[in-house]
Amino acid sequence: MNKAVFFDIDDTLLNTSEFADIARRSAIEAMCDNGLPVEYDEAYDMLKSIIKDKGSNYGGHFNLLTKELLGQEDPFLIALGMTTYHNVKFSLLRPFPRTMAILIYLKSKGYRLGAITNGKNIKQWEKLVRLNIHHFFDIVITSEEVGVEKPDPEIYLEALRRMRCEADKSIMIGNKLDVDCVGAVNAGMSAILVNSTLSDEEKERVNKEDINIIVLDNISDVDTIL
Ligand SMILES: [Mg+2]
Repeated sequence: MNKAVFFDIDDTLLNTSEFADIARRSAIEAMCDNGLPVEYDEAYDMLKSIIKDKGSNYGGHFNLLTKELLGQEDPFLIALGMTTYHNVKFSLLRPFPRTMAILIYLKSKGYRLGAITNGKNIKQWEKLVRLNIHHFFDIVITSEEVGVEKPDPEIYLEALRRMRCEADKSIMIGNKLDVDCVGAVNAGMSAILVNSTLSDEEKERVNKEDINIIVLDNISDVDTIL
């Protein structure tokens, strides 16, 4: 029977939040320097609230920003913002230290590897391809294709079916207690929390509910326990 390790993608394999934030700030600076009539911070806050409102996968954040500030869309500023955002993002995008070594290690130990991620198919694949780690993954499952998001156990069960793997032979690795770890445990899998520390409240909950997880400071430590 197959044994498998499944990974979350964002903030587990790569520093998604950090590079997205820097890329957004760079885009805003370029737009303000070229005529968007507000201070950086104000424009940034507006962009953040548009993203919160519309979701990160909505395609027209910069369109709305110019419309709100100028009364109509400004094609030049929109293009400038989008281009700056993408250029900065792709120049910063990188896996966490030793991520590649961990993937190679797990393969050498006979694990099949999968990714279980909340997000859009192509966007999530794009991250793996740009990092050049896509070939490590036997399957990649997104919430878009399954129709439910983590921590719904169904997305984990679908991943197990596709991997032809039993829950008790599989491990989920992710950076969020609820979304990645509790969801996986509820589907019968083991779980490892990485790149994240538990708050006091979360620690109390883990003890009280006897949630069986392992906590590691970094993804680079995974080979100390698997
Ligand atoms: Mg994550």
